[in-house]
Amino acid sequence: MPTGLARSPAKDEVSGPHRVTDDLTAAAARRTRPGADFCGSQHLTGGRGSRLPNRTAHAHSLPMYYCSSVNRLMEEVLVAKFDEVVAANKQFASSFAKGGLPMPPARAVAILTCMDARLHPEQFCGLDFGDAHVIRNAGGRASDDAVRSLVISQRLLGTDEIIVIHHTDCGMLTFSNEQLVAKINEDLGSDASNWDFLPFSDLEQSVVDDVNILRGSSLIPNDIPVGGAIYDVESGKLQEVTRK
Ligand SMILES: [Zn+2]
Repeated sequence: MPTGLARSPAKDEVSGPHRVTDDLTAAAARRTRPGADFCGSQHLTGGRGSRLPNRTAHAHSLPMYYCSSVNRLMEEVLVAKFDEVVAANKQFASSFAKGGLPMPPARAVAILTCMDARLHPEQFCGLDFGDAHVIRNAGGRASDDAVRSLVISQRLLGTDEIIVIHHTDCGMLTFSNEQLVAKINEDLGSDASNWDFLPFSDLEQSVVDDVNILRGSSLIPNDIPVGGAIYDVESGKLQEVTRK
């Protein structure tokens, strides 16, 4: 789920046309680490609400030699997370003992779920290395690309069951296509009006809808069970919604 969406606003909060934009901007500001914003937030924003560097702004407001050194600093900031990941991986790999597993998932199941950072499907589903395919996107939606992965999972790697897992407090409940299209236009000057970002307003119905999409797909065999559930980010509990 869009990472800026840390909470579910009450219904009246999402009705204003700029509410989500404001939420996203505030959340992005909260995420910015102290010290990272070394040259002023106006230089770190590619537009209101964006944390991408705006190199055009530099070109118009700063001498060239300064621009190049600021850009170098920016690149260092932008790769800092990569460095952290590489350092963490060294630690991980130093005790890694799960090499040599076969490619087909041992438990022959594919799980389609949301990218929300609070979800650790391997943990809340009791999965070990090599057990299952976990396909993630914003909302855990049965998009064309999710179907693409499921087809490969089933036809080439032997999975024979699908579980769709959406979750409480999902950011997909907090915006509409129109709002996000407007934000993209405001931030990037790009037209995304032909995109469907697949937000939803009813959590349980969204699970049913995605299960139905998969159940109705000619690319997914009828004898493959498709289940749907909701994960509660507060309790860690999984609640079944449907089996088809
Ligand atoms: Zn989500």
